[in-house]
Amino acid sequence: MVGLKKTATLITVLGLCLSVSCVGFAGHRKHKEKTSKQTEVTVVKTEAKVDVTQADKNVAEQNKDKELVASQHQEDAAQAPINTPPVVEKLPYILVDENMSNLQLSDANTPIYDKFTVTERRANGLNTYMPDLLPYRNGKIAYLTFDDGPDGKNTLGVLDVLKNEGIKGTFYVVGYQCPNYPETLKRIFNEGHAIGNHSYSHNYNLLYPYVDNFMEELSKTEKIIKDIIGVRPLIVRAPGGTYGMFTSAYYPALKAAGYVEHDWNVCIDDAVGGHPTAADFVQKVREQTASGISSAIVLMHCGYAKEETVKALPEIIQLLRDRGYSFGVMTPMTPQAW
Ligand SMILES: [Zn+2]
Repeated sequence: MVGLKKTATLITVLGLCLSVSCVGFAGHRKHKEKTSKQTEVTVVKTEAKVDVTQADKNVAEQNKDKELVASQHQEDAAQAPINTPPVVEKLPYILVDENMSNLQLSDANTPIYDKFTVTERRANGLNTYMPDLLPYRNGKIAYLTFDDGPDGKNTLGVLDVLKNEGIKGTFYVVGYQCPNYPETLKRIFNEGHAIGNHSYSHNYNLLYPYVDNFMEELSKTEKIIKDIIGVRPLIVRAPGGTYGMFTSAYYPALKAAGYVEHDWNVCIDDAVGGHPTAADFVQKVREQTASGISSAIVLMHCGYAKEETVKALPEIIQLLRDRGYSFGVMTPMTPQAW
């Protein structure tokens, strides 16, 4: 009975999202995934090989403030140290190592990226295989995910809300959009959010059921992303979700290239017709988290005509906080939605 009930619930939620369309493409569906843990990584500034210019500036500003305070407190102190130790910065993200052996993270708050594209890994004889990871299950965590960006308006609106609330989210970006809004992509990255690969074209007819096409689009998109922010994402979201889209060939292909796909288990339905409002979106979250699921992966959109999503976001965050959720970013160890 329990199994039947669970199945029935699953089907109901699936049904809720079947009509979702990311960015105006018709038809949508659902899901699947993997997970893990790890150690924090600090990077000596002079050794960082990726483009972290803005991150450097941010940390430098913070350090400057700290130094100012320190100097005020130490005005009477005897002498300043003669040998200043090298500045060690904690970047707002982690880099996966060459063997892909540090993906089991210690918290759910830090994005992880790769300084190599899959093509570069293969050319250099480096591991590309995504290891099996333990799903991260430490308390109630909500993962706010925003698909179909970047754009020049609503993605910025979402970023403003997240900054104001002091939380991080995850943005699954579409390859063809990135060259049009590189500054938006950089801002997502520099503000410590996670970026995921959402294909290049977002065209179901090209992506399904041709696994080679799907993988080529991931490759094309990660090169575009790396050209802008200096790293590639390890996380992927299939446009429309995997349910009814993926064949059994997709999962091994993703794993072999070091990717993890995540669908969602909370869907605000902001890509359906009928002009739903911010209040509708909040209600969807209220209903779909009522059971107290421990990992709530919330699907939202941040592209064209998603003003109501931006408007709903503060209330959605408050609702989730009231229900005891903290907020995390998607990583390869994020539990699968189902
Ligand atoms: Zn989409």
